[in-house]
Amino acid sequence: MPSFYDDNADLRWYLEGGIDLELLIRLTEYDPGGGPVQLAAPDAPASVAEAIAGYRDLLGAVGTFVAESVAPRWRELAEAHPKRVGADIEDAPVVRELTQAFGEMGLFGLNVPRELGGLNAPMLIFQLSQEMIARADTSLCAHVGFHGGIAMAALLYNVLEGSATFSASPPRIDDLRFRELLDEIVAGRAWGSMDITEPSAGSDMAAIRTRGELGPDGRWTVTGQKLFITSGHGRWHFVIARTEDVAEGADAFAGLNGLSLFLVKAWDWGADGEKRWLASFSGVEEKLGHTASATVALSYEQSPAELVGERGRGFQQMLVLMNNARISVGFECLGVAEAAWRAATAYAAERPSMGKTINKHEMIAELLENMETDIQAIRALAVTAAVNEEVAQKVAIARKLVHVDAQRQTELDRIGRRAQRRSRMLTPLLKWYAAERCVEITRECVQVHGGSGYIRETGVERLLRDAMVFPIYEGTSQIQALMAMKDTLLDAVRGPTRFLNRLAKARWRAATGADADERAVGTLRLRALQAVEFLLTKLGAAKLKELPLSRPGAWSAALRQFDPKRDFSLAMLHADRLTGLLTDAVIAEILLEQAQKDPGRRPLLQRWLERAVPRAEYRYTVLTTTGSRLLARL
Ligand SMILES: Cc1cc2nc3c(=O)[nH]c(=O)nc-3n(C[C@H](O)[C@H](O)[C@H](O)COP(=O)(O)OP(=O)(O)OC[C@H]3O[C@@H](n4cnc5c(N)ncnc54)[C@H](O)[C@@H]3O)c2cc1C
Repeated sequence: MPSFYDDNADLRWYLEGGIDLELLIRLTEYDPGGGPVQLAAPDAPASVAEAIAGYRDLLGAVGTFVAESVAPRWRELAEAHPKRVGADIEDAPVVRELTQAFGEMGLFGLNVPRELGGLNAPMLIFQLSQEMIARADTSLCAHVGFHGGIAMAALLYNVLEGSATFSASPPRIDDLRFRELLDEIVAGRAWGSMDITEPSAGSDMAAIRTRGELGPDGRWTVTGQKLFITSGHGRWHFVIARTEDVAEGADAFAGLNGLSLFLVKAWDWGADGEKRWLASFSGVEEKLGHTASATVALSYEQSPAELVGERGRGFQQMLVLMNNARISVGFECLGVAEAAWRAATAYAAERPSMGKTINKHEMIAELLENMETDIQAIRALAVTAAVNEEVAQKVAIARKLVHVDAQRQTELDRIGRRAQRRSRMLTPLLKWYAAERCVEITRECVQVHGGSGYIRETGVERLLRDAMVFPIYEGTSQIQALMAMKDTLLDAVRGPTRFLNRLAKARWRAATGADADERAVGTLRLRALQAVEFLLTKLGAAKLKELPLSRPGAWSAALRQFDPKRDFSLAMLHADRLTGLLTDAVIAEILLEQAQKDPGRRPLLQRWLERAVPRAEYRYTVLTTTGSRLLARL
């Protein structure tokens, strides 16, 4: 099988000049200055071009390994299950063998700075390799991800809380509080997990019951149950727990304020080398898909814990981990969707029906083209979200680590804030769209295969089963839609002039854009903004009575009296549709920008617009004409 990197021209495009990686590379190599490139990290590549060539080699090696050594073992992986062995939970031998092989390739320390034993590549390279692993097997992708992903989260937490120590010349991280975790993971001796969900707290994190308690000796312990934890059979756990009580009857989100984040070990090693259990694995789930990945229930009983960052700010801390994890799920979805599209394409080219192969039948041809278009659109969104998130994080790290003059620092802070805003806006759209579309694409793949698609032996029904979890974990699709809706509406309410300017610009662009593509991009933006305007006008109407939104002071008066639970109900009902409108518009903008730089990308933009514009009209119509009957019933 050809390398999953070499055979994917769209993925390669990003590493072959498609996007500008200079800033990301400079930040990664401790060279955040605005002048000539001077990559300053010890053993840094000599130039940006050399760094990119190194990443390409790395991705090429991962692509070859997954194509030759993982993908052909799909049957074995599909039948692999973790199992209980005494107090432990063990992965199937094939998972252990392949995970170890990824460790030997350096994947667990891919993003870890060289001075701490890693390869110091940007997170983007990790995420692109995750896509290729998921194309071969998504359980393996998840487990491998809980190595490097957790190591990087630990590093970031320590840098941001100020517990990492640095040298200035050459710039390097000397040590950090969670060094033991980092060293073990980079060496392939351990992995970690993210323990949020509980029996009665999933989407509703404010309902978390696990307690973090500070003993008289000044040490923290954690007590409670965690459920459905991916790779939760490892040693290191980022656990979210309640440390402050909230008043009964307070608003539904108030509970988020009383949470703190802890690092907890499931076991320690005794002097005799024996495991001394500090938490217990209370179960391992049997699932519809992702069968080789361990999904674990844990019990903590006064387990020793280390507070991460500030007490009571656990929800905000967890978002750091979750943002990265949600972007990574976007790439995971891409891998599975890519596998489905390729399997469907290959099968359709071979399968004869009524005098021709089925890829020549109109409806199947359209299905295949839709799949390909949407996968490339998701990749464009995923890479943009990933780069923005990483730039935001690395600007924050550079601030602690590298000295630049005041003018450059101001500029960097501006870049960091902008990247953070973009990442916050793009991440829920990516998670929502990639997950939902991946389920559809894998189902379409089964459909293209006809009866064979439904048979285990063919190997494509497993893609659908695996995909079904994407709209559930790392925040369900409904939660992503609610986040996107709330941020968008609040942004408009807080900056009404800015919002009205945007609306006017979009209207102008839709009518007078330079060409048909630009006008279509303008139309998509306009429809999304008009949907926001419609929802705000409706939501405000009850409060404002006959007061038009254009009257001075009307917006701020509405804002002062805003009750999210009551006043947002129409927007909550239509959050999914609004998210669809926003996603289509954002992807169109990204693809337009790509096409303006590289004419070879224009056909992709046009295929996207051809589908997105009528879809936007449909969504906008439903959003503006339905809902009151159902809401009256609730
Ligand atoms: C295979 C697998 C791996 C997982 N890995 C992890 C992990 O590593 N760490 C971890 O902490 N958790 C993990 N989870 C748990 C996962 O994150 C939760 O299942 C998920 O957040 C949903 O929570 P829930 O199951 O309690 O469903 P609920 O929160 O009860 O939701 C049920 C349904 O109601 C909807 N819903 C809930 N509230 C609202 C609302 N306000 N508006 C509209 N709709 C709403 C949801 O979208 C969903 O469709 C995993 C789950 C699975 C299946």
